[in-house]
Amino acid sequence: HIVMVGALNADLAIRVERLPAPGETVAGRDVQVLPGGKASNQAVAAARLCGRVRLVGAVGDDENGRMLREHAAAAGVDVAHVAVLPGVATGQAIIPVDDAGENAIILVPGANGAIAPDDIPVEAYLDAAIVCLSLEVPMPVVQRAAARAAAAGARVVLNPSPYRSLPASLLDATDVLIVNELEAGQLLGTPIDLDADGIAALRAAVAPRGISQLVVTRGAQGALAVDGGAVAEIAATRVEAVDTTGAGDAFTGALAVGLAAGRSLPDAAAEASLVAAFSTTRRGAQPSYPTAAELADLRAA
Ligand code: ADP
Repeated sequence: HIVMVGALNADLAIRVERLPAPGETVAGRDVQVLPGGKASNQAVAAARLCGRVRLVGAVGDDENGRMLREHAAAAGVDVAHVAVLPGVATGQAIIPVDDAGENAIILVPGANGAIAPDDIPVEAYLDAAIVCLSLEVPMPVVQRAAARAAAAGARVVLNPSPYRSLPASLLDATDVLIVNELEAGQLLGTPIDLDADGIAALRAAVAPRGISQLVVTRGAQGALAVDGGAVAEIAATRVEAVDTTGAGDAFTGALAVGLAAGRSLPDAAAEASLVAAFSTTRRGAQPSYPTAAELADLRAA
């Protein structure tokens, strides 16, 4: 199994001509409520491409929570370990998307902030080959998940987003780190140029914690896959991007599928880059993710 642990959010997506500056009012249009949240997105991205994906997290006992579980289940995701917490609302994200496809996000954690380590039973990690972690849930939940995943013999993929300082125990349990350029700088404590020196600094920052595999996603510039001493540059697929919401999650979900299938990190990252590029050509996060058949068409194109 591929197991995604983290947040489920109802995304309130709003089209705007451009994102508002502080104090500014802009007109919005085409308001939609769409399934989102990093773990939920990653799970649906992976399930569209392959079979066995489990989503682990929490929602409230409300309409958004039902919508999220139904969408994930319809994509083939096992949602038996999505806890329904009484007395809290399902997480929400307010996401304006501008005409260039760029977004800004306000997160209201709700159930994602209320979930506790004990809400996730050890059975959630049964037969786990890959466990993906992200940081829209409390750090103790992430740390417990990392420890349980490592104990289950799973490979742990950490996407430290939204970025917070990372406990040593979490890094110790991590096998593969996925960051975007901003998070790479946050990890180092200083903005980073992704030249040879920058990559060497990143490698040196995580090597003492036993992490030798990392991926840096670079938006329209593609990605870098660092596997020990080898650095593979992965060119982005040229697409007409309309909405980049959830592109990073599509990347992570597809990378997990590739790794679970036994592909090398650079090969899995190249495939993930294609999936993520496809996801930017349609609106929303989950509704934009390709099926295996759509991916095959894109590859043939
Ligand atoms: P995040 O969404 O987490 O900030 P990125 O912006 O780096 O992450 O995007 C993740 C991946 O999505 C990239 O590595 C790339 O493969 C793909 N991607 C994002 N934007 C584009 C784009 N405009 N054109 C092609 N691929 C894109």
